[in-house]
Amino acid sequence: MRRLMVAGNWKMNGTRASVAELLKGLKSQEFSATVEVAIFPTFLHVNEAVEALQGTSVKVGAQNLATQSGPGALTGEVSASQLTDAGCTLVLIGHSERRQLLGEAESVLVEKFKAAQEAGLVPVLCVGETLAEREADQTFDVVGAQLDSIMDSLGVEVFSRAVIAYEPVWAIGTGLTATPEQAQDVHHAIRARLAARNAEVAQGVRLLYGGSVKAANAAELFRMPDIDGGLIGGASLNADEFGAICRAAGN
Ligand code: PEP
Repeated sequence: MRRLMVAGNWKMNGTRASVAELLKGLKSQEFSATVEVAIFPTFLHVNEAVEALQGTSVKVGAQNLATQSGPGALTGEVSASQLTDAGCTLVLIGHSERRQLLGEAESVLVEKFKAAQEAGLVPVLCVGETLAEREADQTFDVVGAQLDSIMDSLGVEVFSRAVIAYEPVWAIGTGLTATPEQAQDVHHAIRARLAARNAEVAQGVRLLYGGSVKAANAAELFRMPDIDGGLIGGASLNADEFGAICRAAGN
C-alpha cells in the first residue's frame, strides 16, 4: 500500500514576512496521518520552515542541489549534505523550469539524483512532456526517456528511495490540468516502464501528479489508481487551499 504524498513547490516566491504567514497558516491545518505532506521553499527560507514546522509532520525539501554531495569549490551552489544538515529530507530534481529555462541536461540530473541519495535525501524526479510533444503523440517516449536516463545510469532500484512527479509542461502554472484519465494513462505507463526492469520497485514507487492542481480538482485526480498524490505549485502558496488539497488526498 503506497502512502499518498502532497508536496508544495513554492518556487521563487516568498519574503521572510510572507513565509512566516504561510507557515503559520500551514500549522493551523489538519492533516490526515495517512498523507505525507511536504513543502519546498527557496534555500533562503529552508531554515525558517524547518524551525517553524518542528513538532509537526510536515517535511521540508529543497528545490535544487549541487551535483556533488559534499563540500567543495562550487560558488553559489548548495550541496546535498548541507541540505540534510539544514533539516531537509527531500529535494526536487528535473523540474521543467530547470530543464527548459535553465538548460539542465539529463547528465546533470543523473549527478544530482545520485548526490541526493548519497546524502540521504529523497529525490522527487519531475518528468513531463511539452504541448508540442503531446500533440506529436510523443508523451510516452519523452517521459520514458527521462526515466531511462536515470535508470540506465543508476539502476531501477534507486526508485525504491525516490518519488516521481509527472508534470505535463503544458499544465504547469497555466490553469490547464490533465484530465484524471490523461494523467492516469501516463502514470500507468511510468509504472509499466519501471516494472519492465523491476516489478517490486514499480509497485512501491509513489507517482505524484503536478500541473494546476487545486482543491477543486484534486480529489478526482487522487482517486485514480496510479496517482499517489500531487506536486502543487501556485495553490501551495495559500495555506487553506493547500490544506484542502492535502485533505482531498486523505479522503
Ligand atoms: C509545479 O511547478 O510543480 C506546478 C505543478 O505548478 P502549478 O501547480 O502552479 O501548475
